[in-house]
Amino acid sequence: MADDWNMPKGDLMKAKRGVVMGVANQNSIAWGIASQLAAQGAEIAFTYQGESLERRVRPLVESIGMDTMIPADVTDDTSMDVAFATIKEKWGKIDFLVHSIAFAGKDELQGSMVANTTREGFRRAMDISVYSFIDCARRASEIMPDGGSIICMTYLGAERTVPSYNVMGVAKAALEASTRYAARDLGPQGIRVNAISAGAMRTLSLAGIRGGKSLMGTGRNWSLLKEDTSMEGVAGCALYLLSPLGRSIAGEVIHVDAGFHVVGVPDASEEE
Ligand code: NAD
Repeated sequence: MADDWNMPKGDLMKAKRGVVMGVANQNSIAWGIASQLAAQGAEIAFTYQGESLERRVRPLVESIGMDTMIPADVTDDTSMDVAFATIKEKWGKIDFLVHSIAFAGKDELQGSMVANTTREGFRRAMDISVYSFIDCARRASEIMPDGGSIICMTYLGAERTVPSYNVMGVAKAALEASTRYAARDLGPQGIRVNAISAGAMRTLSLAGIRGGKSLMGTGRNWSLLKEDTSMEGVAGCALYLLSPLGRSIAGEVIHVDAGFHVVGVPDASEEE
């Protein structure tokens, strides 16, 4: 995925170190962002969900000349303690953190939100997709003595109803609110916290949503640009927010979705 675009190279992230959380494979949004950050000189520590993903993630990490890979399950405090202690021991401090993690059960991501959301499913979606961001922001801020930049990934389903997105839409709404509160808390320390609202993209997460592919089709057909959301665009926005270019931006949710989010009524030809 990351090789598909002519990635701008430069020094925007030179001498900057940070953590990218949420690479599962080459299609992961976290991987697109990491590739772009590396092309601008960043040094990156990657966290991944567990041993089973290591085999897929390691060759990617090595392909951009990095070697710091740390297992971290965001539902496990001990695992998170060890991960951030390892980063602190290695670098002392960091400049940025990318949170690109979400989960809801397949049963929740279909049909009726009212009928299909169990207490346990709700708790799990909120824990992995929202609390983990608050937890990561706290942990990252403790090793950002010189300020920094933190981002997370959200989707239009936070603001409007989207078929099958269900409890994940509820979680993304909470994630966007958490972004604003974290930005308020950490702003005085010079830490900027923002979110990117990406259009539907072909990743493992999308595959978990019933009818996920049609979200891409609708996103493309209704969008102002009449195209899919590109990894290039999402990674470019991440670079903007994480680099000095994003100075003065805090508590923001930036849509990178080819303009899909501003469409109220599609063109007549796209209605059928
Ligand atoms: P992905 O499946 O590649 O990434 C999701 C990541 O979450 C995986 O790396 C997975 O290992 C990680 N994860 C899940 N549970 C975890 C846990 N307990 N501990 C640690 N890590 C865990 O899919 P993606 O589309 O790249 O998703 C990344 C982010 O982008 C998510 O927040 C997703 O909601 C968001 N997003 C995706 C789209 C899309 O259409 N793909 C659109 C907007 C926003």
